Amino acid sequence: MRARMKDVVTRFAESGMGKKSALSLDHVEPFLASLPQHLYGGFGGNTPCIEVRAAQQRAIIDGGSGIRPLGYELLRGPCGKGQGEVHILFTHFHWDHLIGLPFFVPIFIPGNKIHFYAVQPELEEVIRTIFKKPFFPVPFEYLGAEISFHRLEPRKPKAFGDLMATPYQLDHPDPCWGFRFEREGMAYAHCVDTEASRVTPEELGPDLPLYQNVDLMVFDAQYTLMETIEKIDWGHAAASIGLDLAMREGVKRMLFMHHDPASSDEKIAEAEAEARRYYDSQLRAAKRAGKKIHEVEWSFATEGMVIPL
Ligand SMILES: [Zn+2]
Ligand SMILES: [Zn+2]
Repeated sequence: MRARMKDVVTRFAESGMGKKSALSLDHVEPFLASLPQHLYGGFGGNTPCIEVRAAQQRAIIDGGSGIRPLGYELLRGPCGKGQGEVHILFTHFHWDHLIGLPFFVPIFIPGNKIHFYAVQPELEEVIRTIFKKPFFPVPFEYLGAEISFHRLEPRKPKAFGDLMATPYQLDHPDPCWGFRFEREGMAYAHCVDTEASRVTPEELGPDLPLYQNVDLMVFDAQYTLMETIEKIDWGHAAASIGLDLAMREGVKRMLFMHHDPASSDEKIAEAEAEARRYYDSQLRAAKRAGKKIHEVEWSFATEGMVIPL
């Protein structure tokens, strides 16, 4: 933290703003906005939880620790009055995708309806286990909300109000399902957790549609490219693997998440810079070879980002 503060102060001195006689917020805000993410806010430390919102419907993907702050936000709407209906889809049941559920306040409020969905048949058993002593003091039977469980069919669309979600299999040590959400011709692809060990259209086979004609894709970037070689079969990818897929399939916009919990913000920023070098070199190589290549708008995700489509 001390090194980070020193970097910020040095950048401020070098910007020349510190010398201005009448320094005001008008000067400070643009300076703060110019700082790289790892010096100003960081990438965030919660585990996976994404909300997909449409005009009539909201759906949540996974119950990582990020679902705790999302729960507080939902309390400001019908969930706060016990009139909420929440749909939570699970990719898989690794702890980092479940750990926030006992702290998701809407589940304790009588009147709320919480629907859980997964392809995996263990869904109900897993959720009941989380709320079991001695793991958690409030047993499942005493949760205030009305809870129901729903099985999703692999690669079969399921309607959530005006949203349509289809599960496709990802590459992870325990079965993990990504989701393609569609509404009015717009598509969001959720591709976390995955090692993306299948990349060619032939290898992906029935799961290829997850990656095609996508407006926004969120992809696993836990490791740098070198680390993916060291950590084969650990179930996570590097940004460069996702970028190759996105350039081939014409993905419009891409965000990378699920950074390694052991990584500092500085290390994640360096992994992003490495991915930037890789992406630029792929573009240059394609241009030199006279090949047409699809350009992707992309960055590493930060916690709390809201992306309108
Ligand atoms: Zn996992
Ligand atoms: Zn995970």
